Amino acid sequence: MIKIKNKKDKWTKLICGASNEDILSIEDLCAIYTAAGVDYIDVAAEESIVLAAKKGIKWAKETFKNSPGLMISISDGNDIHFRKAKFDPLRCPPYCQRPCEKVCPTFAIDNSGIEKSKCYGCGRCINSCPLNLISEYEYNLSKDDLALTLQKIKPNAVEIHTEINRLHSFTKVVDVLQSSKTKLDKISISCGLNQSVNNSQEPEDLLEALWERYDILKDLNIPLIWQLDGRPMSGDLSPSTSKDTVRLFERIGSELPPGLIQLAGGTNEKTHEFLKSNNLPDGIAFGSAARKIMQPLIEFAHTNNKKLYQYPERMALAIKKAQTFLKPWKSS
Ligand code: SF4
Ligand code: SF4
Repeated sequence: MIKIKNKKDKWTKLICGASNEDILSIEDLCAIYTAAGVDYIDVAAEESIVLAAKKGIKWAKETFKNSPGLMISISDGNDIHFRKAKFDPLRCPPYCQRPCEKVCPTFAIDNSGIEKSKCYGCGRCINSCPLNLISEYEYNLSKDDLALTLQKIKPNAVEIHTEINRLHSFTKVVDVLQSSKTKLDKISISCGLNQSVNNSQEPEDLLEALWERYDILKDLNIPLIWQLDGRPMSGDLSPSTSKDTVRLFERIGSELPPGLIQLAGGTNEKTHEFLKSNNLPDGIAFGSAARKIMQPLIEFAHTNNKKLYQYPERMALAIKKAQTFLKPWKSS
């Protein structure tokens, strides 16, 4: 699915659709960056989010003929979780005008309550209920749900978020992947360094953890991507996060197990500048930095209850911005 158009082209990935991100933004972001030519879009393994991403991709595919692979993020721990809403419909009085139903952007609510697979936890219904009957809860994708979710979503690739000390649980997730018989063209492994005061890990610890994971994955015969997260969940915005990511790549990039290398977790428009031109990774993933530059345009559309792609001129501007953002990687 990754199409490297010329030998020097690097692939680019958009990370969006993490827990509780506005679903309308996900659709627009996927449309914008598909049109701009990203090779992969990485979203949470959550049906409602995948549906929004697919809608955006479909819009851009019809107009621009680009077709990025859909990668879903799963975890071998509890670090990827979702908020969802719930209420007991038997407690709703018959006279209620059902404002909860009207505000739900994914049409998850009907007379029988909230359909779990459609709810992505935006919280709008919670504030709309005059009787405060709606509450939220945390939902983790258990390993039992994972096989079913994979069968429903049919992603092109998965990214497994792991931590250095979670080898046992990583093995279990790989077993589920295998048993689900999902046809994957890539498996990406994302493992960051814990830099907390009480548990500071070194790049060498990370290297060892990645080789352990390689031993588990190598017999699957699926191409692997090692995602180096310089600063996991950093927000990606300052030049220093970029430097952290580049530093980690320069320190252990040449000793990683066989596979492709992708930078993330701290990447932004500065990252390319900090890398040596003769030593570039195979690809790069952008999260907050790519999303943030689109926010004013997307918000304008949403305040008018529309998608950005319903405003052709503004959409064209967004796509141009996205192309400029990706350009160093597409022509390096
Ligand atoms: S409005 Fe309520 S039911 Fe609908 S997606 Fe948001 S939290 Fe879920
Ligand atoms: S707004 Fe509250 S009371 Fe009315 S249908 Fe929704 S959950 Fe029930």
